[in-house]
Amino acid sequence: MRYHESMLDLIGDTPLVKLNSVTSGLSATVLAKVEYFNPGGSVKDRIAVRMIDAAEQSGALRPGGVIVEPTSGNTGVGLAMVAQRRGYKCVFVCPDKVSMDKINVMRAYGAEVVVCPTAVDPEHPDSYYNVSDRLVRETPGAWKPDQYSNPENPQSHYLSTGPELWEQTDGRITCFVAGVGTGGTISGTGRFLKEVSNGGVRVVGADPEGSVYSGGSGRPYLVEGVGEDFWPTAYDSAVPDEIIAVSDRDSFLMTRRLAREEGLLVGGSCGMAVVAALRAAERLGPDDVVVVLLPDSGRGYLSKIFNDEWMADYGFLDADQGEATVADIL
Ligand code: PMP
Repeated sequence: MRYHESMLDLIGDTPLVKLNSVTSGLSATVLAKVEYFNPGGSVKDRIAVRMIDAAEQSGALRPGGVIVEPTSGNTGVGLAMVAQRRGYKCVFVCPDKVSMDKINVMRAYGAEVVVCPTAVDPEHPDSYYNVSDRLVRETPGAWKPDQYSNPENPQSHYLSTGPELWEQTDGRITCFVAGVGTGGTISGTGRFLKEVSNGGVRVVGADPEGSVYSGGSGRPYLVEGVGEDFWPTAYDSAVPDEIIAVSDRDSFLMTRRLAREEGLLVGGSCGMAVVAALRAAERLGPDDVVVVLLPDSGRGYLSKIFNDEWMADYGFLDADQGEATVADIL
């Protein structure tokens, strides 16, 4: 019989797929690391299993414990999936800009979800950082993984994502591009690739316009899961060689193109990372191999990015970019 012991055995080893259409005019090869192939549907499965393993080993998480985490969805799904197998309860805190679809997914995996306002300072008692701290203090057996400061977050990428990319590209990768949220992906993967290549891999971060990583003040943006209004310790600013800021509009239009032209139904932070990857690739030649990491699937964004009305309400969709009408086709 060929089977896996549990879904947890399917975490990692995600495929690399060449981008063929959105790259037209570029000479470098641009490959996408498609993280929605993880069993929970995102890159965050990688950090979930490693943070829980480490907490069990250190005794911070004990049998019957409760996992409390502020998360925009993907980390929640990863944690909930691992928690089920290991007998823990999950309580997640997320900002109100997160789509209902994503919240419902976390609830479907058996987690409790508390929703907090986005439009308050991080210091405000109702901010999602503060609400989760209060829940940790008040819940017996609670453990907060804190993906923003947990060294196992970048470490999971140093030990899995980085080595996978080196092996999959036969050591030919010359540029790695990823969106920056907690900073775990870019810091861990980037550090591994720089070490193994003796500095031969350029590391480029993609950031929503307005976020601190690209010099902003934390001004609101709509793309989910990336950008911050503070500097998390999971982020090592020594790793990226460059940070490219991308607007919501460019991120979302590219996200839609990836679905229609590349068959990749992915989330908004993926479109953002691809825009940055294409900008980086413009300066590169035919021997270059650019890998861009795509964190999650587009299924969680059908009512937003893939909804013409929502896009038009924000002014992201020009008339000529909407659905093709019969008149257009004839
Ligand atoms: N995209 C999405 C959709 C995410 O949920 C996250 C995680 N917050 C990221 C990108 C960024 O990854 P990281 O936290 O490792 O920087």
